[in-house]
Amino acid sequence: MKVEIHEDRCIGAGQCVAVAGGVFTQRDSDGIVELLRADVPAGGEEDVKEAELVCPAGAISIAD
Ligand code: SF4
Repeated sequence: MKVEIHEDRCIGAGQCVAVAGGVFTQRDSDGIVELLRADVPAGGEEDVKEAELVCPAGAISIAD
């Protein structure tokens, strides 16, 4: 599973970091999402799927 982010859509709400902090982080300067890794670690798939669902901006995409 690979994950992509769309910085132009992100509003810095932080839900992705709350549910999958091993994959997502937020830039210190403006809170916009950054990826810590594009390959989802084993066992992290459900958390990343939840992050995609809870992101209020549709800024997370998952590719199998
Ligand atoms: S949940 Fe969505 S809007 Fe919020 S920081 Fe993450 S990617 Fe950005």
